[in-house]
Amino acid sequence: MIVRASIVHVALDLPLAKHFDFLCADATADDLGRLVIVPFGTKKMAGVIVGLSDESEVPHEKLKPVILIQRVLPKFSARDFALFRFCENYYHHPIGPIALNALPPAMRVARPVQFRRQRIIDITALGRDALTTLPMRAVALRTMLSALAGSPQTVAQLKLRHERAASVLSVLLKKGCVVVCDFAPGATTRSGRVATTVPGPELSGEQHSAVERIKTARGTYAPFLLFGVTGSGKTEVYLRVIADALASGSQALVLVPEINLTPQFLRQVKLRFPDAHIVEQNSAMAEVPRMTGYLDAQSGQADIVVGTRLAVFTPMPKLGVIVIDEEHDASFKQQEGFRYSARDVAIFRGRQENCVVVMGSATPSLESVHNVARGRFTQIALTQRAVANALMPAIEFIDLNHERAEDGLSSQLVKAIEETVQRGEQALIFINRRGFSPALVCAQCGAMPDCKRCSARLVFHQKERRLKCHHCGYQSRVPVACVSCGSHELVAAGQGTERIEAALRGKLPTARIARVDRDSTRKRGAAEKIFDAAAAGEIDVLVGTQMLSKGHDFPKITLVGVVNADGAMFSADFRAAERMVAQLCQVAGRAGRADLSGRVLIQTRFAAHPLYQAVAAQDHARFAAMAMAERASANLPPYSYLALLRAEARSADTLNAFMHAIVEAANEARASKVEEAGMGNLHVWDPIPAPLARKAGFERQQLMVQSGTRSELQQFLAMWLPLVRQRESRAVRWAIDVDPLEV
Ligand code: ADP
Ligand code: ZN
Ligand code: ZN
Repeated sequence: MIVRASIVHVALDLPLAKHFDFLCADATADDLGRLVIVPFGTKKMAGVIVGLSDESEVPHEKLKPVILIQRVLPKFSARDFALFRFCENYYHHPIGPIALNALPPAMRVARPVQFRRQRIIDITALGRDALTTLPMRAVALRTMLSALAGSPQTVAQLKLRHERAASVLSVLLKKGCVVVCDFAPGATTRSGRVATTVPGPELSGEQHSAVERIKTARGTYAPFLLFGVTGSGKTEVYLRVIADALASGSQALVLVPEINLTPQFLRQVKLRFPDAHIVEQNSAMAEVPRMTGYLDAQSGQADIVVGTRLAVFTPMPKLGVIVIDEEHDASFKQQEGFRYSARDVAIFRGRQENCVVVMGSATPSLESVHNVARGRFTQIALTQRAVANALMPAIEFIDLNHERAEDGLSSQLVKAIEETVQRGEQALIFINRRGFSPALVCAQCGAMPDCKRCSARLVFHQKERRLKCHHCGYQSRVPVACVSCGSHELVAAGQGTERIEAALRGKLPTARIARVDRDSTRKRGAAEKIFDAAAAGEIDVLVGTQMLSKGHDFPKITLVGVVNADGAMFSADFRAAERMVAQLCQVAGRAGRADLSGRVLIQTRFAAHPLYQAVAAQDHARFAAMAMAERASANLPPYSYLALLRAEARSADTLNAFMHAIVEAANEARASKVEEAGMGNLHVWDPIPAPLARKAGFERQQLMVQSGTRSELQQFLAMWLPLVRQRESRAVRWAIDVDPLEV
């Protein structure tokens, strides 16, 4: 039965919880979940149909008609909606932006989306027989048929590769040897084919049992924490689990923490599954491949989706396994707009789809460690490096209290780099700041140029001769004189990647040095080029930020130098220690991954500190136990649940008034709840300035809500946030961050 509705409810990409009504005479129940274009003010906007009705709260004559329902595009399914609704409720974010942000940009446009329809030619059973029965002289027919036996192809592809393709094709069609498949947006399809798997290396005992345990859980919701030391071959475990999913006709979703790690992982996946249909999903992709990849995943034609956090929303009708590599990584958390954790959303999806979720890490998040302890995740450990004879690197400290560091580099570290390069091996130097130096200090009066719009210093970029704010993007030329006293003696204080690179070039003039940070890899493909060169042995020393620390596998890196990681010791964020230990373990893990043994040198003033000792012991489980005890006694996550309301306004008075009003609202929400069931575990903290108290001209404050249980926190938010909305004004921007990662 077709139910026609005259009114559609449309969710738009606006920070508003409600949907909007439009007239639409020909909408049917089948249009639920479709994308639409609607008039909004003087503009057109893309939206999603979330409901159909005959009635609206808005008077009929005020309603405007829908401009277009994008019926050429597939619609969101009920499952997709369940996922969006979960996010809406859990993160307290409107469903419009949740649904639309999950889409490739080319699909969330306010104009009709068009495809160049590609006809795909596939071989039939008759065609396969014909390969043996056709006379040998029918060369053209045989060539095209055997190509199609390999994989289906578009007409355009056939025309490129075969002479007189059109006439050959028409003969084959007439004979029934091939068929024209239905419209499919992607270039290829493997209708009913089973992907072949190229054999991998023989698994270690630990890898083998990990794979077997995960395989046994196929077809059920089963979250695994694959806790494997760096170089233990977690990737190999993922590949086997993916192979298992593909063999059973399922799709696999792989989330990687960084766009830069995608090419490396893709290469391995393509080698292992040469005829699988593998698609990428990340924000750096060109529009067309992003959209076709998405559509192929949604139609079930793509076997494997490899992507960054946004890929967790890719509709996949046959999802059989989700892999999250480096599950602890902060990049899985979206830090603005719709603030979600892709890891947590993936867990929800795993439950929704009844599938296996494999979360790998050498330094798991304490949240995941806690979930293992509570029996929610199953832990599988890989304690040994996978390559025979590869040992964990030796970790040593260089005490900066005693060693002088010229341009940030101690002579001991420089010597070690030199020796490494002389042996024909590679060194990786890690420093967590880009630019030349974090401050330009006046030698006379000590003044340092600040960003006028942020409560932050300007970072000196020597190559470009500019001062840059890393928070708001403000830039200026390097001043010739101090703005306070006029002195010309300006000194670069502290180190960034540029300075370390320059210093190393001075000290090791013949070494081939490459810098990897956001500045040097801005162009598409630039990072990949450097990593390829490093893998090919064309680079001796890599200097860079955390972009270097994750996931890479360069067998010839035997030395890792950490210039200065002490910054984390002074952070107010309770997760700073966890992040620091994870980062150092990760970067140390780049050393000695193959048959050459590795050495890690960390420059610090606090070598005796328990955090550095934990790093030196390379015993993350021990560190985790220690950190968990601290969290438990301080009642911090994962022993409690947090939500952070961040607000900003141009005027401090406006902001103060808003914060005051929302604290009152919190008391109100609480009081009404206390009468019912009580909110004994809930604590609303006083508003405090944000870690960056001023950014891009806005004053910023935050208010933390903490509870012993997730459900109490959620109940409170559901009561409180509508009251906050009543108190908002145009002058204040605010957002709620559930399970904030940075506080
Ligand atoms: P991780 O992700 O755990 O840090 P990788 O997956 O990058 O480790 O593996 C480290 C190295 O070990 C890689 O070079 C990989 O090819 C190799 N490797 C993995 N498994 C095996 C195995 N079973 N036999 C031999 N080498 C292996
Ligand atoms: Zn001065
Ligand atoms: Zn700034």
